[in-house]
Amino acid sequence: MNFDIITLFPALFDSPLQAGVLGRALEKQLFHIEIHNLRNWADPPHFVVDDAPYGGGGGMVMKPEPIHRAMETVRRKNPRSRVLLMTPQGRTFRQRDAISLAREEGLIFLCGRYEGIDERVRSWVDDEFSIGDFVLSGGEFAALVMVDAIARLVPGVLGNELSAGADSFGDGLLEYPHFTRPAEFAGMRVPEVLLSGNHGQIARWRRRESLRRTLQRRPDLLDSAELTGEDRAFLESLRKRPEEDQRR
Ligand code: SAM
Repeated sequence: MNFDIITLFPALFDSPLQAGVLGRALEKQLFHIEIHNLRNWADPPHFVVDDAPYGGGGGMVMKPEPIHRAMETVRRKNPRSRVLLMTPQGRTFRQRDAISLAREEGLIFLCGRYEGIDERVRSWVDDEFSIGDFVLSGGEFAALVMVDAIARLVPGVLGNELSAGADSFGDGLLEYPHFTRPAEFAGMRVPEVLLSGNHGQIARWRRRESLRRTLQRRPDLLDSAELTGEDRAFLESLRKRPEEDQRR
């Protein structure tokens, strides 16, 4: 898979892409990433990439011509890549988007700065994403968030394919809680079932904890999660005794 990033600040991508899972995967060439400096497509001698907004007002707007040239060049190399514009006005990026975008051959991320990008650029992009209802100073952080979430789903990147499947949102629910050694710490004991070695019981406990967490923290997710009859009965029992559940 190819990731191309068009940005005015290429240096922002240096260290986040060197460390951890992504760094190792890049070394193994499990995916490729190229950072393109938008200024290279601006006109000499001043290589200006922004201009004052028509109609007045504060701030500067990114000019359309360098962006168009950059996108054309990058697209020529990877014609099947989807172009994604980073914008707080896009649809909110979710795990299900990460899953479907991880199946693409390539993705081109367009990062805005200043007041944003000339509106006409929107007609050349395939999709527009926001990473949440807040305003960042640039699209670079949004692109990094998305690259991280998508690249870890590329086969081989995590090493253990199972771990992504069980993650929160993978099955529409929040993930169950995790514990490691020691079995007792600061007066708190790991739930006995996890020490039992009984895999059937452990799986059942995890499913129930996942349902419990989702009900407590993100009940909205339950509307679209795939639930069995047993899941529904368990949730119903929790709803009937919410006081006890609040203590967990
Ligand atoms: N004036 C714009 C508005 O109100 O919609 C915000 C511009 S913001 C300061 C500069 C750039 O940061 C945007 O063009 C976009 O690329 C990026 N950005 C800011 N917040 C974002 C978010 N929540 N998700 C994705 N990109 C974001």
